[in-house]
This record gives sequence, C-alpha cells and structure tokens, in this order.
Amino acid sequence: MVPVFSQSASVPVRLTDAMRSVFVELLVHGPLSRAEVARRLALSPSALTKVTKPLIEAGYLLEAAGESPATVGRPSQPLRVDASRMAFVGIKLTEDELFAVRTDLRATIQKEVARPLAGHEIDDVRGQIADVVGELTVPGRPLSAVGISLAGTATPSDPVVHTAPFLGWSQLPLAEMVEEAVSVPTVLDNDVRALTAAQQWFGEGVGHSSFALVTVGAGIGCGVVVGDRLVSGRSGATGLVGHLQIDDRGPLCERGHRGCARAYASSPAIRRSIAAALDQPDLTFDDCLAMAAGGHPVARRVFDDAGAALGQVVATVANITGPELVVLSGETVHMYNVCAEAFQAALIRHTHWTTTPVRVVVKPFAFNEWARGAAVAALQHLLLHR
Ligand SMILES: [Zn+2]
Repeated sequence: MVPVFSQSASVPVRLTDAMRSVFVELLVHGPLSRAEVARRLALSPSALTKVTKPLIEAGYLLEAAGESPATVGRPSQPLRVDASRMAFVGIKLTEDELFAVRTDLRATIQKEVARPLAGHEIDDVRGQIADVVGELTVPGRPLSAVGISLAGTATPSDPVVHTAPFLGWSQLPLAEMVEEAVSVPTVLDNDVRALTAAQQWFGEGVGHSSFALVTVGAGIGCGVVVGDRLVSGRSGATGLVGHLQIDDRGPLCERGHRGCARAYASSPAIRRSIAAALDQPDLTFDDCLAMAAGGHPVARRVFDDAGAALGQVVATVANITGPELVVLSGETVHMYNVCAEAFQAALIRHTHWTTTPVRVVVKPFAFNEWARGAAVAALQHLLLHR
C-alpha cells in the first residue's frame, strides 16, 4: 500500500495496487460501467465495490448517473474520474524560454504562461520556475505535483538532470531544488518521453500496448512504449535516434557527424541547407517550407531528403521495437505535407522484409504540448512511481 494523492485531498486516500489499477483504467479509458471495469481488470463485483468505495467517498471517482440504462435489480451507473480533483503544473525548459501549463487530472490545459529565461544560472531558473508555479496555482487548491521536462537526460525516478546540453547543465539536482522552492513534489523527465506519456494516456497511444512517438523540430527525438510500459532506460537515456546515420556523404551536423538524421531533418539543418544552397542567409524555416510547397527545386530536394531521413528513422524504430503504430509529431511535423512521398518510400525501403511498414499517424503539434507532457509525466509518477 502506498500513500498517494495530493495534499489537496480533504480525505487522505491510501492507494492499494487494486485501487491504483481501477483509477488508472478509469482515468485513461473512462467512463466505464462497473461490469466493464471488473471485466478488464478481472475483479469480482464485490472486490470492485471495495476498491471504488473509498475513491468515491474522497471524490476522486464519480458515478455518472443517467448515462446507462438501469438493469433490473442492479442499477449500473458508469464510473468516471473527477478530473478537477487534482491539478498539476507542467514546465518545458528550452535554451531560452520557459513554457508552463496548469492541467487537471486528464491533462486538460487550464492556463498557460511563457517567459524568456533570464539566463542559465540555476538560482535564476529556479526563481523563475517558482514565480510561474505561484502564478498557476489557484488559491486554496494546492497542486499535486510539478513536472519539468527538457531536452536531456532525466527521468522521473531521479531528481538529477544528468545532462542538458542546451542549458549547459550536468548532474544538477533540479527536482530537489525546485521542490524546496515551491513546496510541491517535483519530477523531471526528458521532453520527448514526457510527450510520449501524454500520448500514452490521453492521445494516440490510448488502446495500444506498444507504440512509438517520433518528433521532429529543433532535433529528432523518440519515445517508446513497450507492453504498456514507457521505456526510461539507464538514467533516462533512450530513444536517442537523432544522430542515426542516414548517408555517409550527407551534410554535417553540429556534432561533426556526416549525414546523420539530425543533419537532414532538424529544422535548423533544413534551413541552413537551403539558405546556403541559395546564398540567402536570412531565409527562415517557414520561408523554406513555403518555397518547397511552391515547387522550388532546391527547397524540394532538401525537404525530400529530410522526409527520407525521417522515414528511415521511423522504419528503424519500428524494426527494433515492433510497435502497433508510430506517432509522428513535433514542432515542424507540418512539413510532412511536402515530403510525405519521400517519407513513405523510405519507410517501405527500410522496413525489414519480413514485416509490413508500421502504421504512422501524423499528429499536428502545438508548442504547449511539451509542457502538458511534463504535467502528465508528473501525474504518471504520482500514480505509478514511474
Ligand atoms: Zn549528428
């Protein structure tokens, strides 16, 4: 039995494993009838009643009256989680900005803020985080947890950021430092894995025990769920597909690799390639995308190469992990529209010959989803101790 649930609980609830299973099942798949919950979790009706009673009394579960016809002798009212029962703050740190959202239990964003980072000194960043957490806290309704995500090596089971190259941090006990400043349990996660957590419980991953998320934007990232478990790996180092070599005659990445995925498909690399080829250094990524969409041959070639690189990355991830689907997302996923053909051709070419190409779902992206993912990472840690 583990103590969970927030300081905001007026009735403290201690979660048994069975209570946790029922709560997560309803959180992710609810509302569900009692009969359906019992069937899914192989519980007897009386065991289910024993499990749900304290959760209903404490206001975490609601019986949604009127949504199901009553059966003779034993009315069956679907159960659902009261999403407003707990609140989380998710924060995404980039090299120069802090994005934060407050969410409810089902990761619905209620409020969001963005701030430029004053610098990378930890005391400054911690101060900014504390200010934002204060701003997003509703008086009288304490937060259940704060999640912080960043591009780097971090995992919810560890209070230390092992590496965060864009922020120049290594071996930094950020979770403890923030927790001390805001007096709310605080967890860290890699940004792509946190985004994968949000897809797992509240997005395209619902109903799939194995799937992968591949992101494209300033870098190329990957998160993997295998057998309902989000893979964290050693100290959070997983999904490192960005520097996978595509072609040893390709462009150089900033780490000096020739022809890695990042050198082909990250937004800075695409912009740089087109700007250099056309000798127009001021072109933005969006300019380049518009040129490719309009049929400009140089821009088209660069985006086709990027699409092919992404197709190869997705095929490789699928060959290794065998997911039911791959979700393709990230800040520049809208570029898929101009390179879909090259992507699909590479996906087919690099998929192992004994299998069929994985189903790919292209998921439009909004920047606040990074911070929302951090909130879900905190929620999953609270419930599952991930
Ligand atoms: Zn590289």
